Amino acid sequence: MTAKRIDGKAAAQAIRERVAAHVADFERRIGRPPGLATVLVGEDPASAVYVRSKNRATAEAGMAGFAHNLPDTTTEDELLQVVLDLNADERVDGILVQLPLPNQIDAARVIATIDPAKDVDGFHAMNAGRLATGLDALVPCTPLGCLHLLRSELGDLTGLNAVVIGRSNIVGKPMAMLLLGDNATVTIAHSRTRSLNEVVRRADIVVAAVGRAEMVRGDWIKPGATVIDVGINRIATEDGKGRLVGDVAYDEAVEVAGAITPVPGGVGPMTIAMLMRNTLVAAHRRSGLKDPEGL
Ligand code: NDP
Repeated sequence: MTAKRIDGKAAAQAIRERVAAHVADFERRIGRPPGLATVLVGEDPASAVYVRSKNRATAEAGMAGFAHNLPDTTTEDELLQVVLDLNADERVDGILVQLPLPNQIDAARVIATIDPAKDVDGFHAMNAGRLATGLDALVPCTPLGCLHLLRSELGDLTGLNAVVIGRSNIVGKPMAMLLLGDNATVTIAHSRTRSLNEVVRRADIVVAAVGRAEMVRGDWIKPGATVIDVGINRIATEDGKGRLVGDVAYDEAVEVAGAITPVPGGVGPMTIAMLMRNTLVAAHRRSGLKDPEGL
């Protein structure tokens, strides 16, 4: 049996169209569009690419974009002042500070300074705590995108065995919380987990967020399982151009799984769609409106 390929690009496009429709409605009611501020410090090429696509998606959704590109010599105090100014700016509903930050800046302090109501990345401890305690929160975009794909694929997740590989604050932990919220039975695996292959083999749902190219092999996967591959790894190719692969050995896993996300074209596009969704939700909550429906 060959697994169904989960098309994250198409799912993301559908969400972005729904967001755009809500944006127009928000602007009619409130008199301004939702606004997203992006802050890029330095010239890391991968970060620059991510921020450019986030700014483009903001414009395509009809939202107001406020792009701040700061030099890599920016001090922590200077960056904190930019964040404070954005906190106070009524046109800004979401603030995204692209990580990683240069060494002279403590990312934790920066994240703690963002107004939790504008924390569209969902990294502030207030939002992480709200997610963990089952309250309305702004939830990190990548795991939220994974949950959306899983719900679309499987419907009700109640009682399913889910294994999340990776325990970062950005992906692994919030992913586990979301799955728990949907009544899955959740195992969180990490670099100290013993017999990872056997742990994964029990899972109906596998979310791999490790950052190690093709680590999860086909014979680790339970037949029919749903596999969400968050990893983005560049590997060398003979032509010297390199190629992106996930944390799952796709060619092997596709022969065993029931459904699987490709890399690229799986989770990646969903992350940006969820950033648009979170900005829209933040704008509604800040304006005293009910959350937009169907997102
Ligand atoms: P981190 O490096 O912060 O976390 C990696 C996690 O993997 C850690 O918890 C680590 O365990 C665990 N790990 C490392 N080696 C192993 C191993 N051999 N066996 C089991 N677990 C292991 O990464 P992120 O969570 O930020 O990102 C993970 C991947 O997802 C990366 O490839 C990243 O590029 C990608 N990513 C993709 C996004 C997208 O939009 N598609 C967005 C964000 C990330 P321990 O805690 O014990 O060290």
